[in-house]
Amino acid sequence: MASRPLFIVFEGVDGSGKSTQIELLKEHFSKEGEKAYVTNEPTDSPIGSLIRNVMKGRLYIPPAAVAALFAADRLDHIDNSVNGMRKKRDNGYHIIASRYYFSNYAFQGEFVDIDWLVQLNRLAKETFPPDIIFYLNVDPKTCYQRIIQGRDDIELYETEAKIKKVHHAYLKHFKQLGQDEHIVLLDANKKAEAIADDIWDAVLEFKNKK
Ligand code: ADP
Ligand code: MG
Repeated sequence: MASRPLFIVFEGVDGSGKSTQIELLKEHFSKEGEKAYVTNEPTDSPIGSLIRNVMKGRLYIPPAAVAALFAADRLDHIDNSVNGMRKKRDNGYHIIASRYYFSNYAFQGEFVDIDWLVQLNRLAKETFPPDIIFYLNVDPKTCYQRIIQGRDDIELYETEAKIKKVHHAYLKHFKQLGQDEHIVLLDANKKAEAIADDIWDAVLEFKNKK
């Protein structure tokens, strides 16, 4: 049942299961004989690597500039001529992306004016809108447990508090800025395979409506 390639975005806090579900979805497409291209933000482009350096604390850039870098990385992600998402989609690939502009809202909205942030992302939203945005809705405590499993180098309190904050920011921005978006909130406390089934059902439902 090949159809026009979809652009599917996964959003969620760290440890919510994005990478896990993205792999399962890609496999499912592949079983159906459809090509899917998996990609992430921040990207591995020069702009993305600048952002990673900031995230790791190796480089300090003021928050508004960081927010703008994320938006710039996104525009490059869409349209760069080497491996841009638009080109991939034109070549028949479904695009499955971990993070898009709602990550920008949820993470940087705390530090910069949200209307400005929305403006920064206007081109991305207008010229390369997601068909479906999946939010992996997990209890922040559960996420935290998943992340710390096997690790002992984490600032316990800070990390869990941060996850909670970002989770609530996502929900707020979906409500305030998501009216014209196709957002699917998934109960992602379940087993990975059960979540993958819910995702596939939503993908089929979307395709059938087209
Ligand atoms: P993200 O990409 O959102 O940070 P991952 O997919 O890397 O999340 O998952 C984080 C951790 O949680 C990994 O160790 C993964 O194996 C585990 N995990 C993912 N989904 C589930 C699930 N539904 N139930 C239990 N553990 C999960
Ligand atoms: Mg991941």
